[in-house]
Amino acid sequence: MKAIVTRQPGGLENTRIEEVEKPNSPVLVRVTHAGLNPVDINVILGRVNYNITPYPHIPGAEFVGVVESISSPGRFRTGDRVVVYPRIYDRTCDRCKEGNEELCRNGGVMGVGCNGGFSEFFGTDESHLELVPDSLSLEDAVSIPVGGLTAYHALKRAGLKRGEKLLVVGASGNTGWYSLTLGKIMGAKVFYASRKKFPADSGLTEWKDEKVDVIVNSIGSEAWEQYVDYLDTNGRIVTFGTLTGKDTRLNLAQLYTGERSIIGSTGGTRKEFADLIKLVSENHIKSRLWKTYDLNDYEKAISEYGNREGRIVFKLA
Ligand SMILES: [Zn+2]
Repeated sequence: MKAIVTRQPGGLENTRIEEVEKPNSPVLVRVTHAGLNPVDINVILGRVNYNITPYPHIPGAEFVGVVESISSPGRFRTGDRVVVYPRIYDRTCDRCKEGNEELCRNGGVMGVGCNGGFSEFFGTDESHLELVPDSLSLEDAVSIPVGGLTAYHALKRAGLKRGEKLLVVGASGNTGWYSLTLGKIMGAKVFYASRKKFPADSGLTEWKDEKVDVIVNSIGSEAWEQYVDYLDTNGRIVTFGTLTGKDTRLNLAQLYTGERSIIGSTGGTRKEFADLIKLVSENHIKSRLWKTYDLNDYEKAISEYGNREGRIVFKLA
């Protein structure tokens, strides 16, 4: 099968399209769509300190497809359209037992701690799969595992309540877009801050200078202190990205006098993954698709990532 393969840590020169053996797993998924996310680019460019394994390595954390074969059919059958939970988890550690698979002590991210989905086929077991409901296209389902789930979990971690004011920083990104959309569905009054302009008819409200209850910050340290200033008392800022840097200053007095909280968030739980698929389907949430690429054109897809106006998705035959 064809796959994007990174031979060793380093740069783009270590990555190429290769023919590799199909995985031998209980379930073989024929990948139809795979989303390109910062985690994949970091893996390919060797920018991160994740424990990337194995090498040679197939990246790709977010993908959907169709069940090609299954050794002992249970919940799934050949031909089922499926979306893959992007976390490795062992089900046995204390974190898994309490339902926080994203914190599994022996876990990791698909496409980082194991081979991912930038390939024609992906081998897994039933526990990682959910059916894509008939009302949802694979193109719209492909943004659920990383973009959607990260946003959903972050809003849950922040305890966003109906009627609260939510500010999404970095709103044009995939997680930002889902934070806006899901925040609205959860009944919040939603504002966005972004370098990119949203169309005037998007129905979104640009944030000016107003206190808010919850801030979702996916971009990192840039203007961090300024944003914390805009948290109302009992405000929560939730963060899951370091695109603009990871070091910042903190005014502790500001935190405790207003009982403000800083919350870290990563991925999402297995249950949230299943819940989110239902939510996306019932509310007809679309992927903000910008361009689709063939796997062969991965270099172009990566080079255009910084200028994207929506999702970059690999579409497989
Ligand atoms: Zn575990």
